[in-house]
Amino acid sequence: MKLVLIGAPAAGKGTQAARLVKHYGIAHISTGDMLREEVAKGTELGKQAQSVMAAGGLVSDELIIAIVKERIQQDDCKNGFILDGFPRTVVQAEKLEEMVKLDKVVYINAPDEVMLERLTARQTCPKCGATYNKLFLPSKVEGVCDVCGTALTQRKDDTEEAGRKRIQTFHEQSEPLVGFYGEKGILIEVDGMMPIDEITKAIINGLDA
Ligand code: AMP
Repeated sequence: MKLVLIGAPAAGKGTQAARLVKHYGIAHISTGDMLREEVAKGTELGKQAQSVMAAGGLVSDELIIAIVKERIQQDDCKNGFILDGFPRTVVQAEKLEEMVKLDKVVYINAPDEVMLERLTARQTCPKCGATYNKLFLPSKVEGVCDVCGTALTQRKDDTEEAGRKRIQTFHEQSEPLVGFYGEKGILIEVDGMMPIDEITKAIINGLDA
């Protein structure tokens, strides 16, 4: 199964991707996570991406396409994969078409103000990658990861200023993908305002239909 997840920042892509990966036994490819790893390691690529990411913009199509092309050829993608955060532009989608035949594209839709509120309340474990949200998915002990006990951190781009810019970037650059995949008849749209479990159910129902 080869899937793409589309949605504005904090629409719930990462949360749903983690569940779908378990359900279908496929690989999770988050281009945002891959870029953050490069930034943390201080690689040349990370240095190039860092300031664009912090400002809420998009790294170049060329760079991200090269990363994805290499990643989907790895062994763990043999059973399929879910692309979380890629493509984000029509150019990226067109290049992806040349690389693979997608089965479905899931679009998680939610209003801007809700996403902004969620985004600034988001916390991540720097060690195991678990994600929390102070509003609706808090850790048991405030500021501490339930899974591994590490102190939780906030993403540098989860501020109100960068968040607004990222939502704007989504509307300008990524929303056209909804039409792009809609026309191909492979789009499943789900309401991102439903409870997390309901969203997962709606996606799985759509994929298994
Ligand atoms: P995410 O974790 O998906 O919210 O991605 C974090 C940041 O990484 C984005 O705001 C972009 O700056 C960058 N990024 C991730 N995926 C892409 C992509 N497909 N194209 C361009 N930039 C990306």
